[in-house]
Parts: sequence; C-alpha cells; structure tokens
Amino acid sequence: MLYLDNSATTQIHPEVKEAMLPYLMEEFGNPSSKYYSVAENAKNAVKEARHSLASLIGAQDSEIIFTSGSTESNNMVIKGVADYYSNQGKHIITSKVEHPSVLETCRYLEEKGFEVTYLDVDKYGRISLEDFKSQLQDNTILVTLIWGNNELGSLNDMESIADLCYERNIFLHTDATQVVGKVEVNLSDYPGITFLSCSGHKFHGPKGIGGTFIRKDRYDLLTKITPLLHGGGQEQGIRSGTLAVHNIVGLGKAAEIAKQSLTKNIKKLEEMESYVSMILKDKFSDQIEFNHDNTQKIPGVLSVQFKGANNELLVKSLAPVMAVSTGSACSSSKPSHVLAAIGLSIDQVRSTIRFSMSSFIEKEDLEIFKEL
Ligand code: PMP
Repeated sequence: MLYLDNSATTQIHPEVKEAMLPYLMEEFGNPSSKYYSVAENAKNAVKEARHSLASLIGAQDSEIIFTSGSTESNNMVIKGVADYYSNQGKHIITSKVEHPSVLETCRYLEEKGFEVTYLDVDKYGRISLEDFKSQLQDNTILVTLIWGNNELGSLNDMESIADLCYERNIFLHTDATQVVGKVEVNLSDYPGITFLSCSGHKFHGPKGIGGTFIRKDRYDLLTKITPLLHGGGQEQGIRSGTLAVHNIVGLGKAAEIAKQSLTKNIKKLEEMESYVSMILKDKFSDQIEFNHDNTQKIPGVLSVQFKGANNELLVKSLAPVMAVSTGSACSSSKPSHVLAAIGLSIDQVRSTIRFSMSSFIEKEDLEIFKEL
C-alpha cells in the first residue's frame, strides 16, 4: 500500500525513533529537576532539540515554546493575544481557508465579543493583499493567516503580508503546520511575523508535539500573551506542564533532518508531483481537473477532481493500494470548507481527492497510478 496522505501525518523517520528511545527508557528525568544526571541529561536534550527547531525556522532558541502541536499553538496565540491586548482593540483578521483550530478559536472569540473578519480567497486559496489591506482597522490587534494550505498546498504571499503587518505594527500569526520542514522558512527574513505554529508529525517527527515561535521584542523580551495553560511556569511561564522530553527530542531530530535534506526533498517532490500529474492527464484527460496551482505551492500535494465520481467511495476503493484522502483529516466528515471557499460546487467538492507525498516515496512507486 502506497501512503499518499502525508498532509494528514507522516511516518516517523527511523533516526527520530532511535533518538527518542533512550528518553522513553533510562533517560526519564524531569528537565525541570536539578543536579542529578537524569534531570541534567533531559535538560540538555531539550536544549539541543530547541536549537534544532529554532535553526530550521531561523529563530532564536529562546523564541521557541514547545506545545502539544499546532492545535494548541494556534489556540494559545489567538486566545492569548486576544486576552492580553483586548484593551487595545477587539478586531481580528483571518481567512476562510484556515484550519479548524484557527477558525473555531476565532468563532469562540466572536462569542466573547471580538469582531472577526474572514477574508475571501482566490481560486487557489490565497488571500488578496488589496482586500486584506482594506479590512485593516484601527482596532485590529491580530492577523492570523495560514502559510501553506493543507488541502491545496498553495502558499500565501507571506512576505507581503508580513511586510504590511510590520509597517502597521500589527501582530501577525501564521499557521505554518504544512510548510515547516517542507519549504524554506527563515523567520529572520520575515520580521513582520510575530507568532508561528508548527507540528512535529507533519515532517516525520512524533505526534502530540509542536512548537510556537514567539518573537522577542527590541528589549529582548518575548512578546507578551496570556498563557493558555497556567501552572508550574515551564517554557518561560507561557506553557506550563512537565515537558514531554521524548517527543521534544523526536521533534528536534526531525527538524535537524528536515533542515539537512530540505533542498534535496523539494526537488524530489517537485519531480514526483509532475510525474503523477502527467500520468493522470494521460490517463484521464478531461475527466479530471486540478484544483491546485502549479507555482508557489508546497511540493508533492495534488488536489484533483475526478468528474462524476464520489470521493468517499473512491478513497475507499483505492484503500487496498493507496492511502489518500478527500481533504483534511480534521474535517473529513463534512464537505471541505476550503474547496467551497475557492468556489467549487458541492459536486466538485465531493469528487475531489488529495494526494500528498513524502520523500520516503520513490518515483518507481508512482507507477501504480498507471493502473488506476
Ligand atoms: N493547521 C494545519 C494547517 C494542519 O494541517 C493541522 C493538522 N491537520 C493543524 C493545524 C493541527 O495540527 P495538530 O493536529 O498536530 O494539532
């Protein structure tokens, strides 16, 4: 069975597993304890992992806060900014194609009296800068926009978005879950990004671990937000709770590997994506339609309409040979809000399949597409 659902999750890299094992067994110390060796070893392992994730995204080590994943990171930043800065304004801008962990958090805040603007997107799921600019208000305290879309792979023009937020002095958070480890992310080139979320399991790390980048201000202090989890004060008081050392070590290793192999993987995935597109076009010609763009995207993600087919049945019938999905695993019971937002009809949405590859696949594996 060929696994082509890497936007949902990825397999753990064997080196990640090896790196984690000691911290599940003999190195069981609490990194917040002191002096004895298992505690010091755990502390050093966390330090190293923090450095690996920071260098993958071009941040300082102290700007990384470990969380349980992007759902938590998104909640923490959006609720944390809303709570801390509510006396400065109550307006938030996001888009219609965000992950539910952003959209539902924004809806929750609307119930608490915040005003949220949900930007429209173009046919590839990108926001328009002009539209964005026109929606900024004097009381806008936060902009939260996805960097790379989980269903279409399209990248927002993060550079221009970040520049605009920088000029206007407005906090920008980006959900970068689908891009970290897959496309180049160097936060030193994006001074306008104040917050970023990522999850380890999207780039061959373990599940249940992620990171939040919080930029330091000019006084070298982390940008203030209200914590989501109060308690023992771990993670600079921003995220309390005993650190999941084994998972953090796994995330760090995955980040280190992703950094080393980024260029090579991008090339490989781009080639494999064009190969699959070619086979599908040859085989199905006008019976298919691609929803994704061919440029400015996460490599290796294809969103394809199989005209007249029912995507649920198709995914089910393909399951013995390939693992694919109708779209996001987090909202698989409902028709995709992302595909609806790019203007597809309900029939088009219900005929769409997402194929998402990883560098663990070889081109030869893709021959299977010829037999569909
Ligand atoms: N944002 C995006 C864009 C995602 O694809 C996902 C995972 N599907 C999340 C957030 C949530 O990540 P996690 O489930 O690891 O918390």
